[in-house]
Parts: sequence; C-alpha cells; structure tokens
Amino acid sequence: MQQNNYSSVLTLPIFELISSVSEEMNIETFVIGGFVRDYFLKRNFKKDIDIVAVGNGIELAEKVASKLPHQPKVQVFKNYGTAMFRYQDIDIEFVGARKESYSEESRNPLVEIGTLEDDQKRRDFTINALALSLNKNNYGALSDPFNGMLHLEQKCIKTPLNPDITYSDDPLRMLRAIRFAAQLQFEIHTDSFEAIKRNAYRIEIISGERIVDELHKILLTNQPSKGFILLEETGLLALVLPELTALKGVEEEEGQKHKDNFYHTLEVVDNIAKHTDDIWLRWAALLHDIGKVPSKKFNKTLGWTFHGHEFTGSKMVYKLFKRLHMPLNNKMKLVQKLVLLSSRPIVLSQEVTDAAVRRLVFDAGDDIDVLMTLCEADITTKNPARKKIYLHNFKIVRQKIKEVEERDHVRNFQPPISGELIMETFNLQPCREIGLIKEAIKEAILEGEIPNEFNASYQFMLKKAKELGLVI
Ligand code: ATP
Repeated sequence: MQQNNYSSVLTLPIFELISSVSEEMNIETFVIGGFVRDYFLKRNFKKDIDIVAVGNGIELAEKVASKLPHQPKVQVFKNYGTAMFRYQDIDIEFVGARKESYSEESRNPLVEIGTLEDDQKRRDFTINALALSLNKNNYGALSDPFNGMLHLEQKCIKTPLNPDITYSDDPLRMLRAIRFAAQLQFEIHTDSFEAIKRNAYRIEIISGERIVDELHKILLTNQPSKGFILLEETGLLALVLPELTALKGVEEEEGQKHKDNFYHTLEVVDNIAKHTDDIWLRWAALLHDIGKVPSKKFNKTLGWTFHGHEFTGSKMVYKLFKRLHMPLNNKMKLVQKLVLLSSRPIVLSQEVTDAAVRRLVFDAGDDIDVLMTLCEADITTKNPARKKIYLHNFKIVRQKIKEVEERDHVRNFQPPISGELIMETFNLQPCREIGLIKEAIKEAILEGEIPNEFNASYQFMLKKAKELGLVI
C-alpha cells in the first residue's frame, strides 16, 4: 500500500459509516473506480460510488443500509455478488473483492473470492483501478498497483493486464476505452489500441443494449467525432454501425468528386453537439446521410447524385435501431422524421417562398425547431463566403417560419373542413371524393391559394365539389 493519504476526499458521512461497519465485520473495504478517478480529475458529478469489500459485499451493504436513518432498500444481485442502495441521490454499489476467469463465448466470468489486488486486476483500466482505503488503520490511503495516477497525469487509457486478455475477456471494454478517451480527452495507449484492433471482432458477443449504452455516452461528449474516429480506426465501427463506415471515401468519375460523407457526418455531429444535448437529435445528425450509400449515382450531366437518400435513410434508421435493440418508439420516429426532412430547409434556403415554408412547417410540425438546428449543423462548407450565405439564408428561413406560423397556423394542421361536414353537405356515404376534397383543401392552404380558415375553405370545398360533379 502506498503512503499517499486522501482522507479529505472521503468526507461524506456514508464513508465513515462503511468504515465502522467494516471494522465490526472485521473486513477491509475500499472506494474504487470512477469516484476515485473523477476526484483526481476534478470531475465532480458522480452519480455512483463503488465500494469493494475484501469479504461479503452484500452483507456489508445490508448492514450499512440498516444503520442509515432512512434505511434504504438494498437491491441484491446474487448472481453478480453485488448489492446497492441509494443514498442522497447517489447509488452506492458494493461488491466483494473477486478474481475472475473468462470463457470464449461469454463476457460473464467465473468468479472466485479474491484480494483487493485481484479485484484491481479485473478492472478495465488502470485509472479505474485506483482505490482509497476505508479502513481505520489507514483511512484515505491510496492503492495504485498499476500506475493509475501516472496514467491520469499522462492522460492515458491503459489496461492493468495484457490488453489482449482484458479486451478478449470482456469485449465491452474496447468500447469503454474509446468512450473514456472521448469523455476525458485521453489517448488510448498504443498497446491497448493495437489490441483493440486485434480483438474488435469479439464485439459480437456483446448485446446491442450495452453497445448502445456506450454509443450514447460517446455521442453525448462535447466532441463526439473523437470517439467515432477511434471506433472507425479500430475496426469497431464497421462492426457496430456499418452504415456509417460505408459513407467513408471519395469517389471520382470524369474528374468529379463527391465529398467524404463520413467525415462530413462527424462534423455535423460535432456541430450539433454545440447546440443540443438531446441524444436523439445527435443520433439524427449521425444518421442523416446514411441513405447516401444505396442512393449514390453518377451521371455525366448531373455528376454525383443522391436522389431520395433522405427517404432511404429514414427506412434504414428503423433497421439499425432494430438490430441494436434500440427502442422502436417515438424517439426512433423522431430520428426517422429528421433524417427524412434533413435536406428540406437547405434546399429551401436557396429560394424562400411562403408556400415552401408552409409545407415545411406542416411536415415538421412541432419538430420544426430541432430540424432547423440539425440543418444548420449540416452546413460544413469550408468556403467562408458560401457559409455566410447559407447562414444568412437560414436566418431568413427562420424568420419566414415565424411569420407563416403566426399567420397561417399550419403547425399541427387540423383541416378546417371535416369529412363529416363534406358528407352532410353533399349527402354522401363514405367515398373517395371526400378524401379528394379534403386533400385539395389542404393543398390550397399550403400553397397559399386560400387562408387557413373555415369560410375560405368552405367556399373552396363548394368549388371543388362542383368540379367533381357533386351537387348539394
Ligand atoms: P462512469 O460512471 O463515468 O461510467 P465509472 O468508472 O464509474 O465511470 P462504471 O461503469 O460505473 O464506470 O464502473 C465502475 C467501475 O467498475 C469502473 O471504474 C471499473 O473499475 C469497473 N468496471 C466497470 N465495467 C467494467 C468492465 N466491463 N470491465 C472491468 N471493469 C469494469
């Protein structure tokens, strides 16, 4: 055990309590992992604290909880030998120190009782293996058998053991390495990096949910491109999100090139990260161009085209979400919608007509603002003059959206004339003509031929019905 003492870190009363109960139980206890790492990094937003007991972690958790005034409910995970309870909005997680050995097919290890050092060895990274003693004889003493402190200083992600073993044992750690590199702005040690490349294929044993958990965390960093570039370089991205790696590369035909849509996408994600923490909006940015791969064509007159890529892309979103066991709910629908509409404001900004703005507001509904945020992030041109024009045009589009909304109320459009009214007026049974009239009224409103109000719509209905040969 090293001599550095950090008892001043352990000021939460819960630490003192754990310390006393451990003494009563005659076991040694330590705080380990993210809490210790983040203390040294001065990142102070921990939502969980990990406690390792050289002894029975579950019993310790139960005894500690029973001595707290609010006696929190202890959740016990017998299979994992862990237990946790909530204390002042923090999850306190207890585990008995253990030694792990893995089989090829599973990331669930065989577990034996172990020492503190055994437990530190099974940790993913040296910076996550730092432990502070909660024992009375050396309260606050740091245990750092793998140079975690040095690696914190060097900003280096390194495994305690041979990285090939660490990553092969539990391939999720490869994603965690990249996630920590992205979150903390650290570099992955070369040996680790090479080992990730060698073991990337093992990611297949990891569930979609766990993969997505890490992808979310990478997407939520300030500069997600860092994580995605690492994912790409290690070969993991091709395995978890092949739709994205397929965007990589620039093709040339008859001297005409298209942009590299992979790096463009990453720029868009970085741009949007400056404007929103909404994970689904960030997903939409990440996936907004995936339809470009199947829809790419070259044509002598038009050059490279990606016609309909937004529609294709929005269909691909569903398959991707399903494959990764992501929720197929309203959030997915939002991502699909944003992908589908992702080119509309840009096209519009070249010629801002009221009718086009009305259609956009109609189609985007309440998501118009997030759509605009996405589309602004999509401006990645390196030509400053062009960028200025685009941004200026976007301002005009936003202004027009406001005007059209105030005047025409087409967001969440409710047709001013109902099907029932059409049926009553013309004495109709349900039939095709009703739909035709309703659609014609909607079109007339969106095109600005008539205002979005009852009287004008009623008159328009009479006119349209006459054209269709209907009589009152
Ligand atoms: P954060 O809360 O920011 O994700 P953390 O380090 O607290 O960071 P957790 O996932 O809560 O991350 O894990 C707690 C600790 O458990 C880690 O610090 C690490 O020591 C260990 N750990 C977690 N997952 C693994 C894993 N897959 N392999 C080895 N050790 C792990």
